[in-house]
Amino acid sequence: MTQVYDHGGGVRSLRVPIPDNPLGHTLVYLLDTDRGPVLIDTGWDDPDSWDTLAAGLTACGTSPEEIHGVVITHHHPDHHGLSGRVREASGAWVAMHEADGAIVRRTRQTRAERWFTYMTAKLEAAGAPESHIAPLRATRPRALPGLSPALPDREIVPGELLALPGRRLRAVWTPGHTPGHVCLHLEEEHPARLPGHGRLFSGDHLLPEITPHIGLYEDPDDATVTDPLGDYLDSLERVGRLAPAEVLPAHQHAFTDAASRVRELLAHHEDRLTGLLVLLAEPLTPWQLAERMEWNRPWAQIPYGSRNIAVSEAEAHLRRLVKLGRAEAVTGSEPVTYVAV
Ligand SMILES: [Zn+2]
Ligand SMILES: [Zn+2]
Repeated sequence: MTQVYDHGGGVRSLRVPIPDNPLGHTLVYLLDTDRGPVLIDTGWDDPDSWDTLAAGLTACGTSPEEIHGVVITHHHPDHHGLSGRVREASGAWVAMHEADGAIVRRTRQTRAERWFTYMTAKLEAAGAPESHIAPLRATRPRALPGLSPALPDREIVPGELLALPGRRLRAVWTPGHTPGHVCLHLEEEHPARLPGHGRLFSGDHLLPEITPHIGLYEDPDDATVTDPLGDYLDSLERVGRLAPAEVLPAHQHAFTDAASRVRELLAHHEDRLTGLLVLLAEPLTPWQLAERMEWNRPWAQIPYGSRNIAVSEAEAHLRRLVKLGRAEAVTGSEPVTYVAV
């Protein structure tokens, strides 16, 4: 049942299922080191996913008990979900970038009611209709899944090599999809001698056929006006310049020619920003903009939770346009509307 793929040079991938999710699975990588096997990401916290991970490790001649360390690309539950369980089994360290570590700490401290209040206020400010917000007000907050993620015990420092005996794995900070997302550059010759510089574990930053979600960095305690899409576009250029021989992403499949995938994604976002400026010929709230943007299906068919994600994505694009001086907030509008300049 477990699908293990040997990428050569002491790197294998395990397909760990994500329950009830169209993405299907997370590619968890197993990296051999002189101190023992190290995981890059762990997968969703679910009994089936855990069994699949454990069976995959057995198929690789090891086990959860033997894991030396866990390197996390970003805090999302399909990547970090099983880290706590791996650490319990093995005593492995868990490493994450500080910005995502801070989110983990806050998630563990924030009570569910606080999130509902925060989300309600955000949706009101974005111009969501009362019919969309009302269910949030009516919900009796209970524990939400993924509200107690494992605290990392090591920090991934951008630009530095990780302490992995016998390997050269360098952290590359790639904020955008999350504020503390990292890619991991294996600075070793490609085992099949493909041209380029080593291999890049790209997490969700660079995927072969999916455009990663770029929304706002949701944080009830931080009022900083961040620009996640701007961060993401900068991060894309950063990994493009690395020119890895092969990219090992956390979903879908490995691929080569990172530079052309980077160009495609840069062009996609530029097209999208240009398209939004056309819509912003009239003043729109973020919600109205989301309703008019192109999604993978008509707005009326987008489920409730996905609409919240869509609005967050619309806001990330608005932030970018404002930062570039291509759009501005209409003075005195309430909720705030934006218009092309
Ligand atoms: Zn993610
Ligand atoms: Zn993911």
